[in-house]
Amino acid sequence: MFLDQKYLFTPGPTPVPARVNAAMAAPMIGHRSPDFSVLIEDVATRLMPVFGTRHPVITLTSSGTSALEAAVVNTVSEGEHAVAIVAGSFGDRLATIAETYGIHVHRLNIEWGKSCTPDQLESFLKTMDKPIKAVFATFNETSTGVLNPIHELGKVVAEQSDALFLVDGVSCIGGVSVDMTADHIDLLVTSSQKALMLPPGLAFAAFSDRGLEAIRKATAKRFYLDLNRYVQAYEEQKSTPFTPAVSLIAGAQEVCAMFEEEGFANVVRRHYLLRDMIRAGIRALGLPLLTSDEDASPTVTAICSGAVEASVLQKALKKNYSITVAGGQKQLKGKIFRIGHMGYCTPFDILKVLSALEIELVRQGEVNHLGVAVQKAEEVWLKHV
Ligand SMILES: *Cc1c(COP(=O)(O)O)cnc(C)c1O
Repeated sequence: MFLDQKYLFTPGPTPVPARVNAAMAAPMIGHRSPDFSVLIEDVATRLMPVFGTRHPVITLTSSGTSALEAAVVNTVSEGEHAVAIVAGSFGDRLATIAETYGIHVHRLNIEWGKSCTPDQLESFLKTMDKPIKAVFATFNETSTGVLNPIHELGKVVAEQSDALFLVDGVSCIGGVSVDMTADHIDLLVTSSQKALMLPPGLAFAAFSDRGLEAIRKATAKRFYLDLNRYVQAYEEQKSTPFTPAVSLIAGAQEVCAMFEEEGFANVVRRHYLLRDMIRAGIRALGLPLLTSDEDASPTVTAICSGAVEASVLQKALKKNYSITVAGGQKQLKGKIFRIGHMGYCTPFDILKVLSALEIELVRQGEVNHLGVAVQKAEEVWLKHV
């Protein structure tokens, strides 16, 4: 085999298309030059439909966690109260960031592998006897492969409180449809290395009118992550306040072109197709899925240990097929493996990983499943074409 041909199926980083790599290899331009102004304005506006926002999208040069931190420090101050939906390790991270800044965080803990239902959030908000400044949610909980019903949750937040709705969209923006107005989202953040098919290094923040107002009024101490600086630099100079990762932004421009060529609605449809294909295939192999169909994420799928341990399969995929998948985090460590299927991922890619699993299960002494998962996945694909 050509084991140097590597297949990346982690839920971040994700494969980068060759044309995006080519765009990033273009000669350097200065970030105070007119060329850069054209570039940043193009990216900020062409990303708007991807975030479902009415404002240009802000680009930060830092990883996704910096955008989570920005969402906290630009809206909530020390001593204020916030609710955090914690349904996995990324919900926990967002809550922990807020706690680090001295915010009183009320954690709504959800069983890992399940979504937060609107009823659960509504009941929880009703128990709050302090004014809640913000509700934090993880749109797609990468650690469990759960997509939270963000539209319904946003509606509950808007109906039950005056709180801002701040959403970590890191592992799904670019693979799901979102409308910040209809979904009542005030701040929505993501990073480059997930469904946006870029290398790691950029984070993005989109806001509503109310979100922008909150950013303007926020009093928490911050410097590099002060979003006002980014909004001002964009509005006044079509630039960024500090030296940005110019090459990655050139890559983002190419990503926008790819989204537009495919049609963003089709990009979203493709992600749901990939999800349905992988779930049909995994079921055919007799491996348990962590989440219900209803909660299942279109960008990452978590598979539990069955007759063969998840960690054994994860290692074998790497060693024998050069396929990288992710393991479980925290309480799910060793119990699941996760297949990322976001960004530059096609139905053929799903067939690759399923066929490797079929062969590996037979090698591990399981019943002969050859062709079974691929067939089920192809049947799903056929219905979509
Ligand atoms: C990957 C991820 C992050 C963290 O992003 P980094 O770029 O690693 O800092 C945050 N939230 C979610 C949901 C993620 O999937």
